[in-house]
Amino acid sequence: MADRVLRKFYLEEQFRLDFSLKQRLYYTFLRPILSRNLRRKLQGRVNAKRSYRENFINAEFVDAIQMAHTDARSLDLFPSANTSAIVLTHDVEDEEGFRFIPRVLELERRYNFKSSWNIVPYKYGIDKGILNAIHQAGGEIGIHGYNHDGKLYFSRKIFHERVPHINRALKEYGAVGFRSPMVHRNLRWLQQLDIQYDASCFDYDPFQPFPGGTGSIWPFIAGKFVELPYTIPQDHTLFYVLRQNDITIWKKKVDWVCQNHGMVLALTHPDYLLQGSHLRLYEGLLDFLSGIHRSWRCLPKEMAQWWTGKFDPQVSRSTRHASTSNTSDTPLDPRKVEST
Ligand SMILES: [Zn+2]
Repeated sequence: MADRVLRKFYLEEQFRLDFSLKQRLYYTFLRPILSRNLRRKLQGRVNAKRSYRENFINAEFVDAIQMAHTDARSLDLFPSANTSAIVLTHDVEDEEGFRFIPRVLELERRYNFKSSWNIVPYKYGIDKGILNAIHQAGGEIGIHGYNHDGKLYFSRKIFHERVPHINRALKEYGAVGFRSPMVHRNLRWLQQLDIQYDASCFDYDPFQPFPGGTGSIWPFIAGKFVELPYTIPQDHTLFYVLRQNDITIWKKKVDWVCQNHGMVLALTHPDYLLQGSHLRLYEGLLDFLSGIHRSWRCLPKEMAQWWTGKFDPQVSRSTRHASTSNTSDTPLDPRKVEST
């Protein structure tokens, strides 16, 4: 059963986050003093040596996903008979990127898309006017870590100390979603956050500090929240690591995800979109996505709500028994990690 195959990958990938000594030294001493430009150059040099699958599909996962294909169709995965879904998300790294948000909003409005914006609560000034603009555009605010220093998962102690601050930010900004900086992740620890969804995982991405992927091009229930993996390469990977000047890789992956009735979840950054011709390339993506028929365009919080109502055994049970059980104490039981 495809479910079992995918679950194997979930279990292997989700709970692992071991920093090597080199990574600890990098985040502690080197990263704070390197400019973003220099970091980008270094990453480019390291990754240029690595081979990559240009379509961002790990052959290892393909069989499992193809096996799930029939299920995906028959399960009516998305509302209103849509056969795929499109979710646009952005992580805002710095103040410069934050100030660029209105330009991206305007572009998305022209193509009739709305999106979510994950802000770093304790790093840069957050202009309430821009937050209002996001709300007015029908967008969503999410939280992107604590201060983006790369150390959130260094130890249980550090994570634990930061949890109340992150939860306070979630409340302050009316956010229900979270994404970790550098997509570091530990879905067990994340159970402590007051969230309806996390978006720190991906289906396949060999270019992250903790590479790999869950294999899933669908959301899945991870303990008390829904996990929404991104399913096309990040803008940073495309523009800086792979040095692409067009969006062929994005288009191929989008096509593949839609053919398999999956969720196209994009992760871009206004900080990168403001540079060179990147905004134009992003517009190309919006244009391409606009041509997809019967695809549900939604915010991540809408997807999380839909998925919870449909697949969370806790919710269906409590609805059946009209119980008001508090799911916030639910431990992350691997057996409850569900795929389609
Ligand atoms: Zn980030």
